[in-house]
Amino acid sequence: MRIIEVKTRTKEELIDITSKVKEEVAHSGLKNGICYVYIPHTTAGVTINENADPSVKEDILMTVKKLVPEDLPYRHSEGNSPAHVKASLVGSSVNVIIDEGELLLGTWQGIFFCEFDGPRRRRAYIKASSF
Ligand code: ZN
Repeated sequence: MRIIEVKTRTKEELIDITSKVKEEVAHSGLKNGICYVYIPHTTAGVTINENADPSVKEDILMTVKKLVPEDLPYRHSEGNSPAHVKASLVGSSVNVIIDEGELLLGTWQGIFFCEFDGPRRRRAYIKASSF
C-alpha cells in the first residue's frame, strides 16, 4: 500500500490525484486486479469525474455548496458540520479495475481528492490488489 500526501490550499477544492494512483498501479506490477483509493478523513473525500474540462470540478463544488447550507442549526461543536456532511455525500473511497496493468478509467475520467475543510495536510491510501 502507498500513502500519498495531499496538501490542500483552500477551504474547498478538488485535486486530481489520478497520476499518483497510476504510479502506484505501475509500481505494484499488477496486471489484473483492483485499485482501492481510500481517504482517512472525516471532512474530505474522493470522487471520480471529468478531468478534461476544469469547469466540471468548479460546478461540482458549487452544487455541493448549494446542497449543504452553512447556516443550518448544526450541533457539532467544532463548527465544521457542513464539511462533514459534504465528505459523507461524496464518500471516502473509490475502486477502479486494473486491466493489463492499466486503470480502467473512462477517457474523460479522473480521480479527485475532495477537500471540504482546508487548507490542510491530507492523506490518501492507495492499494493495488489482485482479485
Ligand atoms: Zn468536526
